[in-house]
Amino acid sequence: MIETDVVIIGGGPAGSSCAWQLHQHGIQAIILDKARFPRDKLCAGWITPRVFRALRLGEDRYPHTLTTVRRIVVSLFRTSFPVRTTQYAIRRVEFDDWLLKRSGIPVHHHRAKDISVQAGGFVIDRTFRCRFLVGAGGTNCPVYRSLFAPVSPRRPERMIVTLEEEFRLEGADQTCRLWFFDNRLPGYAWYVPKADGYVNIGIGAKFRSLNARGQNIRTSWNTFVEMLSKRSLLGGHRPSPRGHAYYLRQPHMPYRRGNAFLIGDSAGLASVDMGEGIGPAVESGLKSARSIIDGTPYRPESIGRFSAVDIFVPWARLR
Ligand SMILES: Cc1cc2nc3c(=O)[nH]c(=O)nc-3n(C[C@H](O)[C@H](O)[C@H](O)COP(=O)(O)OP(=O)(O)OC[C@H]3O[C@@H](n4cnc5c(N)ncnc54)[C@H](O)[C@@H]3O)c2cc1C
Repeated sequence: MIETDVVIIGGGPAGSSCAWQLHQHGIQAIILDKARFPRDKLCAGWITPRVFRALRLGEDRYPHTLTTVRRIVVSLFRTSFPVRTTQYAIRRVEFDDWLLKRSGIPVHHHRAKDISVQAGGFVIDRTFRCRFLVGAGGTNCPVYRSLFAPVSPRRPERMIVTLEEEFRLEGADQTCRLWFFDNRLPGYAWYVPKADGYVNIGIGAKFRSLNARGQNIRTSWNTFVEMLSKRSLLGGHRPSPRGHAYYLRQPHMPYRRGNAFLIGDSAGLASVDMGEGIGPAVESGLKSARSIIDGTPYRPESIGRFSAVDIFVPWARLR
């Protein structure tokens, strides 16, 4: 049996931010992740300046692919206009691996399945014992499934379904574009050019609303790809996307039960307007660590629920 103060299940931005903060304060912790890093993660990889501030890192010190986005062409109900901004795009395969290494905490390659509550702590798969347990395993996190879902299931109307692909494209158009509510999509689509010739395209929409309109994410994707092709944004590339579902901010969700915490996507913290999840993952990870370190109440509900203002209103980015 491996004994430690804290077990964090999941080494994405939520888990590695929590780990990093614990390590800074000399708390013994380990991370379990079912994937070997560097691992890919379906995500457009757009992050706000606020994320770099939360990570206490100047963006000029980030050592991997980083694109600064200063202009986005937004299409709203088919009317297009440019917006000046300062946002960043990273590649998750690099960003997550770098955050995990930076945390300084041992990582065990292990898919957590069984969690039991035992006197004064938790036992995971009869192999790991800890006093504090942090669920950072994303949408299907076993901590959420074992300890939280039975008493407080997530709201299905907050579920977002997505399709996405990141690929290299010779001579890719360098304008970042967002399409809101095109073809009655209850969500938005994106084309994000990145450094080193990468492009990320995708769509995300509320599952319930799509269903209610008799649409599905696959047919919406086909329409989106057709539109990109007509605009010559795909070159000769034939997209083959992958899908993932996650949750927007839940009202009245318990984020802590005893010494078990939910952070990031396992808590369903993505912003309700844009589905931004990396920032809330990092911030909730730091907050959970703070709570373990000195007993500060864990309140992820204080993390901003909206992100459009930060992107589109210049003065808001200074907050
Ligand atoms: C298509 C798409 C595009 C997106 N675009 C953006 C964007 O541009 N900007 C943004 O801010 N957000 C975006 N998001 C949301 C963002 O990706 C997530 O909110 C964010 O990754 C959450 O981080 P996390 O650390 O909570 O979870 P994750 O990054 O999902 O990490 C969870 C980790 O847990 C591990 N794990 C899972 N189960 C187990 C288990 N049983 N045992 C051990 N390990 C386990 C996984 O291997 C994984 O490494 C997007 C999401 C999607 C699907």
